[in-house]
Amino acid sequence: MRTIQDSFEPDSFRDTGHRVVDLLADYLRSAQKRAVPVLPTIAPEELLSLWDGPTQTQGDHSDDSEDRMLGFIREVLNQSNHVHHPGYMGHQVAVPLPAAALIEMVHAVLNNGMAVYEMGQLQTVLERRVVEFLAEKLGLGSGADGVFTHGGSLGNLTALLAARQANAGYDVWTHGQQHPMSVLVSEQAHYCIARSVQTMGWGAQGAWPVNTDEGFRMSMDGLHRAFDQAQGAGRQVIAVAASACSTATGSFDPIPPIADFCDQHGLWLHVDGAHGASLALSQRHRHRLTGIERADSVVWDLHKMMGMPALSTAILFREGRRGYGVFSQDASYLFDSSPPDEQWFNPGHRTLECTKRGMGATAYGMLKLLGCRWFEDQIDALMERTAWLESLLRDSPDFELACAPQANIVCFRHIPLTGSSTDMSGTELDQHQARLREAVVQDGSYYIVQTHLHGRLWLRTTLMNPMTTRDDINNLVDGLHKAASRLIQ
Ligand SMILES: *Cc1c(COP(=O)(O)O)cnc(C)c1O
Repeated sequence: MRTIQDSFEPDSFRDTGHRVVDLLADYLRSAQKRAVPVLPTIAPEELLSLWDGPTQTQGDHSDDSEDRMLGFIREVLNQSNHVHHPGYMGHQVAVPLPAAALIEMVHAVLNNGMAVYEMGQLQTVLERRVVEFLAEKLGLGSGADGVFTHGGSLGNLTALLAARQANAGYDVWTHGQQHPMSVLVSEQAHYCIARSVQTMGWGAQGAWPVNTDEGFRMSMDGLHRAFDQAQGAGRQVIAVAASACSTATGSFDPIPPIADFCDQHGLWLHVDGAHGASLALSQRHRHRLTGIERADSVVWDLHKMMGMPALSTAILFREGRRGYGVFSQDASYLFDSSPPDEQWFNPGHRTLECTKRGMGATAYGMLKLLGCRWFEDQIDALMERTAWLESLLRDSPDFELACAPQANIVCFRHIPLTGSSTDMSGTELDQHQARLREAVVQDGSYYIVQTHLHGRLWLRTTLMNPMTTRDDINNLVDGLHKAASRLIQ
């Protein structure tokens, strides 16, 4: 019988660790070479039936032996979605840098929880350097400050809590909310904005929808209208949350006129840059973010276009002190413009979570080791792949784009042509997209997703993988054509 101490034995960690890294390196190669299906599709109940739960009888402390460990990891690898496969172009998660995964392993071994300085001193310092770097890239100015948190959803909630504290006009944190509030958001905003305000108790009208233009960007007429309507309905409008970019179509709301509108009406400007803020690192593409320097708060996910393993999110405040008031039990922050007496080096004061992973330190390591240029090249590479797909689809008369792509996201549909007319529409056409997607995903060479836009179903790809080649993209469109003709017969 092994002791509990045996499970901490450094040499067995060394031996197993070397074998696990070998296994992962082989896995990376086979995924990159397209030797595995992107997603081995299996229904939830079927997969569940393959795995029984932990049982009391497995109590001899022996189950972390090297071979069993490797067997387990092999199964995990086999039965997961393979984002390193160049045919992965589905949701917006990064193809993570293998070196970043190694740094994450260091965090897992150290387990410095970061809520207070002494439980993560270096992680805290490195996170601060990354926050400064990101704020500077957005042009937020020397008063900016921020903190890392676990994911864009939590980041948006945190920013909107700050907005409420700044703009409610009374001490909501202490006394509770006394009347209904709203934040104006485009109808294309990520659902987590609505979830955040509903979590705060604002109800379904907490996220007041603003309609969008033909590019799925917030309409300025719509913004004026929504403001009047929300106020007319007796709601205190405290903020506008702009998407940069939106999740479904990758559309960038026009920040300069939205910022003017916010100035005019004394509203907080939050920019949800979870996906698109990374474009700030690219000379070629940063123009999409023009005006973001005027935001009161910005959320930026580094586990999307920046190659970090999930989760890795920065919340940035133009007036850094705002971030210190979010979870403060002392409401003086709300109204006092003197510097916060909370210290920057105790990050737990500014996050919903207490313990958190050293995600800023991982980002620091990668930014320092690879250099900013790597990230710029990565963004440009993803955008270039998007342009390849866009131009192929434009050249195919039987494909329709939802809008011109603004980020690395492309939404499109296949419209079957008979002669020069189509005889599918409405629900039938939607079902055709769903079946097409299913066929392509089942085949294993690609992973693409789908989304509803104005009630219709569209195919959706996010070009996340710099190893995706022009041939991969040609073959995707080819494969869709072939699957479509099989389905139509
Ligand atoms: C991905 C995304 C989110 C959610 O972020 P998570 O890190 O998945 O919680 C929020 N907003 C936008 C615009 C996004 O693209």
